[in-house]
Amino acid sequence: MRSNPADYEMIAPGSLYAIVSLLAKEPGVWVPIAGGTDVMVQYAAGKLPARKLVSIWNLPELRRIEVTAEEIRIGAGCTYTDLRRHEIVGSEFPLLRSAARWTGGVANQNRGTIGGNIVNASPAADSLPALLVYDSELILVSIRGERRLPYATFHTGYKKTLLATDELLQAVCLPRRFSGYFSHARKVGARNAQAISKVCIAALGHLGHGVVEDVRIALGSVAPVPLRLTETEKIVRGKAIDSELLLLARNAVADKIQSIDDIRSTARYRAAVAGNLVAEFLNRLSSEQPGAERGDGVLARWNGSSVDEATQAILPCCGSKAWAQGMVARRPLADESALVATSNETWHSLTQSDWMQAFQSHPRIGESRPSSEEPQSPPAQSVEWSAQEQRDLADAEVAVKLALADANREYERRFNRIFIVCATGKSVPEILEILRRRLKNDAETELHEAGEQQRQITELRLRKWLQG
Ligand SMILES: Cc1cc2nc3c(=O)[nH]c(=O)nc-3n(C[C@H](O)[C@H](O)[C@H](O)COP(=O)(O)OP(=O)(O)OC[C@H]3O[C@@H](n4cnc5c(N)ncnc54)[C@H](O)[C@@H]3O)c2cc1C
Repeated sequence: MRSNPADYEMIAPGSLYAIVSLLAKEPGVWVPIAGGTDVMVQYAAGKLPARKLVSIWNLPELRRIEVTAEEIRIGAGCTYTDLRRHEIVGSEFPLLRSAARWTGGVANQNRGTIGGNIVNASPAADSLPALLVYDSELILVSIRGERRLPYATFHTGYKKTLLATDELLQAVCLPRRFSGYFSHARKVGARNAQAISKVCIAALGHLGHGVVEDVRIALGSVAPVPLRLTETEKIVRGKAIDSELLLLARNAVADKIQSIDDIRSTARYRAAVAGNLVAEFLNRLSSEQPGAERGDGVLARWNGSSVDEATQAILPCCGSKAWAQGMVARRPLADESALVATSNETWHSLTQSDWMQAFQSHPRIGESRPSSEEPQSPPAQSVEWSAQEQRDLADAEVAVKLALADANREYERRFNRIFIVCATGKSVPEILEILRRRLKNDAETELHEAGEQQRQITELRLRKWLQG
C-alpha cells in the first residue's frame, strides 16, 4: 500500500535541544529524518513506523567534523560528500573514504548521512564494517545528557540498535591510531539490478618482521549485523602469511558464516565469497608496504600525465571513449578502490551508444579479432587482454566451438550486437550455457546484463593495468 502525503506531518525545529526535548516529550512518536534516503524509501513503500517526522537535516550541531590529537569526531549529520572531501578522513581513514565513495551515486552522497547509515542498521550498509575495524565509538544524546558507547555493541540484531526512543545519534568518533596500517576495502556485487548478492570487507593489517602483528577484519551482508571476524583475526595474528595460513583463515571465515542461522539459504555462497575476500586481503598484506595501495606507481604516473596520454592509457580497460574521458576528468584518484568505484559510477552514467562502443571493442566470444567495423581498431593492449580472457576457448572441443558460433549468430540477429560476457574464470560450456540463457532475455534485461558483464571486465582490467 502506497503512502499518502496527507497522512504524514513533518517539522524542523532549529536546534538540537528543541529536537531532543520533543523526543523526550513524546518518545517513539517522532521519527528523525536526516538526508531521508532511507526514510523516503520506507515512506514510498508505506512502511514508515510513525506518521510524524522531525527533520534533523543541516543541524549545525550534527554537521561538524572535529579533529583532536586522539580522535576524529564526525557529526552524525555529515554526508558522504562531507566525508569524501575531508582531508583527515581521506588520509587516515581510507576505509571510510572508500565506503563514502561507493555509497549510491552522487545525489545520494550529497544527501545520505553517516548517522542515517548507522541508525538505519542495515547489515549491508557500506560504512559499518569500516566503523567496526576502526574501533569507533558513538555519542548518543537526549534530554538526559550524553552517553558514549563502542559502535561494536550498538547493533544488537537485524535492524535493532541500542538507541532509546528519546535519543539521537550525535557523532561517531574514530581513534587516530590506524594510519600506519595497510588497509583493504572491497564491495562485491554492487547495488544494481543484475547483482545477485553483495559482500563487503573492510580490513586493516600490520606486518612486522614478516609476521602479522595486528589484523582487524569486518564484513558486511553476511549476518544480521556487520560482523567482525575476531576468530579469524586470532588465527592470523603472530604468523607469517603463507598458503597454509590462508587455508586456515578461509576455513575460519566459512565456519563463522555458515553457522549464522537466519541467512542459511545463501550462507554457502557468501562464505565462499567472504573467504576469497579475506584471502585477497591477506595476500595483499603480505606483499605490500603498510599504508601503500597496490599500483601506486602506475596511478601516480597516470594522475600526473596529460589528458590525451591519460585517456589513451586507460581506454583499453573499457573501450568506450566517453568512459575514458570521464575517468580522466575525475583525476587525481587516490588508490585502487577509488579507481574501481569511479569506473563503476562513470560506466553507469554513460549513454547506450557509449556502451555499444565498449561492447564493439571486444572480439566475438570464440574469435580473436574485434567485432568493431570502425576503421580504427582497438588498442593492442585490449586485444592482448581479450586473448587472455578467452584463453580456455582455444582448447575447446570443435563441437562446442561450433555450438558457440551458432549461438553467437543467433544472439547478434536477436540483439543486433555481439554477446558480452566476463569470460575470466569461466569454462567454455559455462559460457555457452550463459549465452543460451541470455538469448531468452527481453531487450532491456539483456542490455543490463551485457552492461554488468562489461563493468566486471573493466574492473578486472583496471586491476591488471595497475600491476603495470
Ligand atoms: C538510491 C539509493 C542508493 C543507496 N546506496 C547505498 C549504498 O551503496 N550503500 C549503503 O550503505 N546505503 C545506500 N543507500 C541507503 C542510504 O542512502 C544510507 O543508508 C544513508 O546513509 C542514510 O542516511 P540518511 O541521512 O538519508 O538517513 P535517513 O533516511 O534520514 O534516516 C535513516 C534512519 O536513521 C534514522 N536517523 C538518521 N539520522 C539519525 C540520527 N542522527 N539520530 C537518530 N536517528 C537517526 C532515521 O530515523 C531513520 O530511521 C542507498 C539509498 C538509496 C535511496
